[in-house]
Amino acid sequence: MKMIIIFIFDKWGENMAAYKTIQRTCILSFLEANIGQDFTVKQIVEGIQADDSACCAPSESTVYRIMSDLVKRSIVRRKINQDREYQYRLTDQNPGKISLRCKICGKDQHIDENVCNKIMDELKNFSSIGIDADIEILGVCDKCK
Ligand SMILES: [Zn+2]
Repeated sequence: MKMIIIFIFDKWGENMAAYKTIQRTCILSFLEANIGQDFTVKQIVEGIQADDSACCAPSESTVYRIMSDLVKRSIVRRKINQDREYQYRLTDQNPGKISLRCKICGKDQHIDENVCNKIMDELKNFSSIGIDADIEILGVCDKCK
């Protein structure tokens, strides 16, 4: 597969700090699995509890604190619903991630976070240019081959 790597300049370092804790990762993976939907803190807690594969069960106060921080970092967007409760959703562009995109149909696929981190480290070691970006790898998916 021929690959073209595009660097989209972003606050890579700042966003990576947001992935520090397990609880944050857990909340982020819940939001990512349900991208495009808005959730209240209570719904996030319930959603994570209902997911057997979730690695933790954060309390409402923990979720609230993490969500405020994610909003500050522009990873998550917040709005108020008709019951005057805060609702959160993941900002469309995933920060500091590597995605594989089919250049024919546009379908994209995210790479596992650990793999992303490894690739980013490698790139940092081999390049004099600091990587402060999202990476998009263009290719052709199985369907379009
Ligand atoms: Zn395709």
